[in-house]
Amino acid sequence: MQDVTRRWIEADQAHCWHPFTRQADWCARGHEPLVLVRGEGVWLWDSEGRRYFDGNSSIWTNIHGHGHPHLTAAIRDQLERVAHTSFLGFTHPGAADLAARLCACFPNNSLERAFFSDDGSTAIEVALKMAVQYRLQTGAPEQRGFIAFANGYHGDTLGAASLMGVGRFFERFRGLGYPVHHVAAMEELRTLPDNMLAGIAGVVIEPLIQGVNEMRPWPAGMLAELRAWCDTQGIHLILDEVMTGFGRTGSLFACQREGVIPDFLCLAKGLTGGYLPMAATLTTGAIYDAFLGAADRAFYYGHSFTANPLGCAAALASLEVFQQEQTLELLPDKIGHLRQGLAALQARHPVIHDVRQCGLIAGIELRRPDGEKFPPGERFGEAICHAARAHGLLTRPILDTVVLLPPLCATPAELDHALAALDAALGGA
Ligand SMILES: *Cc1c(COP(=O)(O)O)cnc(C)c1O
Repeated sequence: MQDVTRRWIEADQAHCWHPFTRQADWCARGHEPLVLVRGEGVWLWDSEGRRYFDGNSSIWTNIHGHGHPHLTAAIRDQLERVAHTSFLGFTHPGAADLAARLCACFPNNSLERAFFSDDGSTAIEVALKMAVQYRLQTGAPEQRGFIAFANGYHGDTLGAASLMGVGRFFERFRGLGYPVHHVAAMEELRTLPDNMLAGIAGVVIEPLIQGVNEMRPWPAGMLAELRAWCDTQGIHLILDEVMTGFGRTGSLFACQREGVIPDFLCLAKGLTGGYLPMAATLTTGAIYDAFLGAADRAFYYGHSFTANPLGCAAALASLEVFQQEQTLELLPDKIGHLRQGLAALQARHPVIHDVRQCGLIAGIELRRPDGEKFPPGERFGEAICHAARAHGLLTRPILDTVVLLPPLCATPAELDHALAALDAALGGA
């Protein structure tokens, strides 16, 4: 190992605190964190010069690959004019164009307003606060709770986290945050009594597929059914497309696959192509109108970096790349290629219990060949991902489900590299 690598690792282990990380393991002797220093396309390089396929798109954010010339030029161009200006009291070209561009993805008179924030969690916070304040200002103050789905994940700030259906992340904070009722599926939703629904402002869901829940797709048609149910009940539908947005499922937004338009659409990770932290919450003209009138009806919410011009420039450039490179048009072949490759992998490795795929999102669940789960303490999924590193693939498991969520620009040959690395990692298991 080079001295410079050793120095970075020592400084990190002495002073950094990593997300969702057992720091004792991270800092343990024998654990060698990778220091990532460069990226190009689907590839990342560490400080020792080793190259890896970015198998989880840098935690589900990257869309068109790293170091994309169009994105880089757009950010640089904006940087040369100004890096940041306040969106409180002013506007700027990038925000105006981006808001219009995002709303133009939906039919006229549907999603008409974009409220910008910083990340997936804050995009959700915005939707929740707007949904509650909307009820306060339309004569229904009792409607201040939410329905969310079991095992759902919507971010880590307290409001977003109170929607959390993942017990191991939030159980200790239960009771803080919003009143939330969890249901497992549509069937259970339909059984909720009217007196309970009378207290609900909105239903929140990750459309088509739950990410953190080990990449579990919903039954086909479920989203459209949920939309119809919400309409009947007069309850808002909040879609968390933080993971599914920007092409991951095969269309620009997952909701388009079932012809659904939500009342709130939360976007983040892929919004800037994965280059800068930025989010948007889209909503309807009807909801927006309830915030007009007296001064105290305004939406008093925002962050210092709301509508950051560099983020807006990146987001606009990313949408341009979708056009220039026919990103969505090329997806069906890649999705089919990945499906075939995963089926072949499953046929070769009895330890693959299930493969769940939605577009270019895949979860590969590992179990003992007799179908039993591995004991959690064994951390088998983690061991496989660690082994895959040596074969040039970076990704993370969720429990024992290995995630393969490549940048949309990945070619079939590059996808084969990722599959071959997994094959080798599983072969050594
Ligand atoms: C990642 C994610 C979030 C949270 O986004 P952050 O940018 O990490 O705050 C919310 N919802 C879903 C579905 C996500 O995948």
